[in-house]
Parts: sequence; C-alpha cells; structure tokens
Amino acid sequence: MNSSTAGLAELTATLRRAARLPGLLVYIAPELGDNAYAGSRPCGPAPLVGIGADLLDDSRSAALHGAVAHEIAHHALGHVTSLVVPALERVAAWATVGAMLATIVPAPRWVPLVLVAVAAVAYVTAAWRRRATEYAADAHAVALLDAAGLPGAAIVAAMLTEDFATEPRWYARGGWLIGSHPLTRSRLRRITSLDQLTPQFTAPGFAGGAR
Ligand SMILES: [Zn+2]
Repeated sequence: MNSSTAGLAELTATLRRAARLPGLLVYIAPELGDNAYAGSRPCGPAPLVGIGADLLDDSRSAALHGAVAHEIAHHALGHVTSLVVPALERVAAWATVGAMLATIVPAPRWVPLVLVAVAAVAYVTAAWRRRATEYAADAHAVALLDAAGLPGAAIVAAMLTEDFATEPRWYARGGWLIGSHPLTRSRLRRITSLDQLTPQFTAPGFAGGAR
C-alpha cells in the first residue's frame, strides 16, 4: 500500500465512522478520472464508493477529501437506495417509448402528446430530485468532515471552486435544468458566500489543484 492509498483508507474509515455506516467498499477507478461515485451492487450489501485515480495524485487535497465525504454522505442520507428517482426515470423512459409507438399504431392524436408530456414532467422531476440530493450531500459532507475534526465547509468549498473553473458554459446557460447536478455556483452559494470565492477556501493543510 503506497502513501496515497494508505491516506485514502484512513480518510474513508474516519468518515465511515462519522457517517455511522456499518460497512463501506472503496475502490479506485481509473475511468472516473477526477470524479467519484456512490453506488451499490445487487450481490453485495456494502455501500460502494468509487474514487477516480486522478484524485489520488495528492492525498492531502481538498478535492479528494471533499469527494470522498460527498459520496459517503450520499450513502448516509439513503440517496443510493432510494427508489423514487429511478422510478421517475423509468416512467419517463416508458412514456417516451409509448409516445413513439402511438405515432406508428392507430391511436387518437392526443395519446402521443399526453405521453410526451408525462415523459417530460417525469424526467424534469427526476432531475430536480437528483439536484436536491446533491445539495443535501454537500451539506452532509461538511458535517461529516467537521465530525472527523476537519474544516468541512472550507474543504467542500475548495473542491467546488475547482469544479467551478471547468464547468461547461452550456451547462451554466440552462443545461443544468435537465442535468442531475446543480450549477457549481449554486452549490458554492449554499456552502458559503460567493464573495469569498478565493484562496480562503483552501483549507489549512489541504492543497488544491489535485485535478
Ligand atoms: Zn453527488
């Protein structure tokens, strides 16, 4: 075990205890780049967190600490096991399929229109719910890091500040309305004031720029 994976193991163990999760399986995923992932496997009960290999470039970075805390927060808040968003997304998918079928089989004209409307409402509602879980995970990540004796708000804000620089313009210009993540600017605003968006977000002892 090298120093970055040893640091990651210690960090995840500390945050898992703070989140009161009975178990946690963490894996390093090169394909995630500088992102992280919270999920589960049908064959295993342990919550799963994937860490992009690029996040391990600096085991002391706010990017790594913030991402790990954020994904563990998703598990602690029950977002991964909630069935509401997947159900809405299934409704959206099936209503879209139904609308396409209704255009090629004999059916009243209003049927595909109603199905398209149902699909749109279900999709937008699912996206809105996903964005709400992102705000909640950020806030809980701050609480978990604080409970671990770390400067939670500063770490999460530093992580988001790095994301802010790379956010695509199309997303800021309205793409977020159908996206699963809120605008980074909005997430930052929830954590602290945008007026302070500069070096003071770099937590003492945590280097930024890991990704
Ligand atoms: Zn998230």
